[in-house]
Amino acid sequence: MSQKHLPTVCIVGGGAAGFFTAVNIAENCRQVKVIILEQNKTVLNKVKISGGGRCNVTHACFEPKELVNFYPRGKKELLGAFYTFQASDTVQWFENRGVELKTESDNRIFPISNKSETIINCLIEVAKSKGVEIWNSTKVVELEKQDEKWVLLTSKDQSVIADIVVMTTGGSPFIWNVLEKWHEIVEPVPSLFTFNIQHKILEDLQGVSVRNAEVSLCHHKLKTTGPLLITHWGLSGPAVLKMSAWGARLFHANNYRFEISINWTGKSKQEVMDFLQRQRRQSAGKTVMSQHLFEIPTRLWKSVVGYIGIDTSMTWGSLENYHLEKLRQILCECRLKVNGKSTFKEEFVTAGGVELKEVDFRTMESKKVENLFFAGEVLDIDALTGGFNFQAAWTTAYIAAQTIIDKCTYSFRVK
Ligand SMILES: Cc1cc2nc3c(=O)[nH]c(=O)nc-3n(C[C@H](O)[C@H](O)[C@H](O)COP(=O)(O)OP(=O)(O)OC[C@H]3O[C@@H](n4cnc5c(N)ncnc54)[C@H](O)[C@@H]3O)c2cc1C
Repeated sequence: MSQKHLPTVCIVGGGAAGFFTAVNIAENCRQVKVIILEQNKTVLNKVKISGGGRCNVTHACFEPKELVNFYPRGKKELLGAFYTFQASDTVQWFENRGVELKTESDNRIFPISNKSETIINCLIEVAKSKGVEIWNSTKVVELEKQDEKWVLLTSKDQSVIADIVVMTTGGSPFIWNVLEKWHEIVEPVPSLFTFNIQHKILEDLQGVSVRNAEVSLCHHKLKTTGPLLITHWGLSGPAVLKMSAWGARLFHANNYRFEISINWTGKSKQEVMDFLQRQRRQSAGKTVMSQHLFEIPTRLWKSVVGYIGIDTSMTWGSLENYHLEKLRQILCECRLKVNGKSTFKEEFVTAGGVELKEVDFRTMESKKVENLFFAGEVLDIDALTGGFNFQAAWTTAYIAAQTIIDKCTYSFRVK
C-alpha cells in the first residue's frame, strides 16, 4: 500500500510572485506545507513602494491578445498564460478577498484606498490564515538536488529540505548566479529609464510636457508615441519610457549613447507643411513667436522657433519657403543626442533572467529539472509601466500554484 506524505513547497522570495504562489496553493490544497523564504526583514517591499505607494495592481486590458503587446520580453510565452489568468482574473481575485479596486482614466487599476498596504495586508492575511510559514531574514544561498529532494542552504547555515522549489526572487543577480548551473540566464539589463540629453532647445524647459509626440530611434525602425516630459536632465514621459523598454538591449549594447528624432506635433510632415503654409497666408501680420501651433506649449514653441533663427519680430508673412522647411523639420524631425540614462521615479524593472524557452508556460515548471518552478521577474519577462509587470507576476504565480496543487494532490507517495 502506498500512502502520501505531506509535501513541502519552498518559495524563495517574499515579493508579489512569491506571495501569490503561496496563497493560491494554501487556499486550495491542505495536503501541503508552504514556506516563504525571504532574505529581508520584511516582505512585499516592492509592492509597498509600487505605483508611488498606491500599487498599480494591473491594467484594464482584458483581451490577452492586446495585453501581450505591453511586454517587450515575454510576449509570445505570456499569450497562453493570459488565457488561464489575465487582468480581469486579478481584479476578481482581489475583489473576492475584500479589496476594492478602481480603474483610472488611463486604464491603470489601483486599490480604492490608494494605499499599497491594502494589497499587502490582503496577501499577508490570506497567507497567515491558510498556514503559510513566512521565514523573514532568510537568504537562500545555494540550491542542490539530492535524490528526489531539494536542499536549500540559507545564510544562517540551515539546510531546508523541500519537494518543490519555486523561485520568485525578482531581479536578483545573486540568485541568477546560483541558478546558472540549471538554467541559461539572459544577461540582465535595465528597462524603463529616462534619456539624458543636453540640447539648447530643452534648456530651462523642465516641467514642460507635450501631449502627443512621436519618438523615433535614428537609423532604426523603433518608434513610440505618447506624452513627453522635459526634465532638467533630458526627456521623460510615456513615449520615452516605452522606447527605453523596447530598446533596452540595444541601448545597453550602445552604452546608452544614441540619437533620437522627435516629432513634437504628432502629425505627418505633409500635414505640418500644409498647416504652416496656411498660417503664412492667413496670419501674415502676426509674429511667429506669439502663435504656438499644434498644441505645443508656448515655452517650447519659442525655444524651437528661436533655435532655427526666427526672432521675436518676424511675422508669418515675412517667412521664406526655406524658413517654413526649417520649421517643419525642427517640428517633425528634431534630432537629439542621448548621452546616458536616469532612473524614472526610482521605478525600473530588469530585462533579462531565466531563459523563457527553458520553462513550460503551461505549468511554470522548469523543462530541465523536475519540481523547480519560476514566477515573476526572475524570468526574462518585463513590461511597460501601467500595472503590466505585476500582472505577469500574478499570472505566472497563479499557473505555478495550480500545477503544484495537482502535484501535491496526486504525487509524492511514499512506500
Ligand atoms: C519603485 C517601483 C515601483 C513599481 N511600481 C509598479 C507598479 O505600480 N505596477 C507594476 O505592475 N509594477 C511596478 N513595478 C515593478 C514590480 O514591482 C515588479 O515587477 C514586481 O515587484 C516583481 O515581483 P516579483 O515577486 O517577481 O519580484 P520582487 O517583488 O522583486 O520580489 C522578490 C523577492 O525575493 C527576495 N529575494 C531575492 N533573492 C533572495 C534570496 N536569495 N533568498 C531569499 N529571498 C530573496 C527579495 O528580497 C524580494 O523580496 C515597480 C518597481 C519599482 C522598483
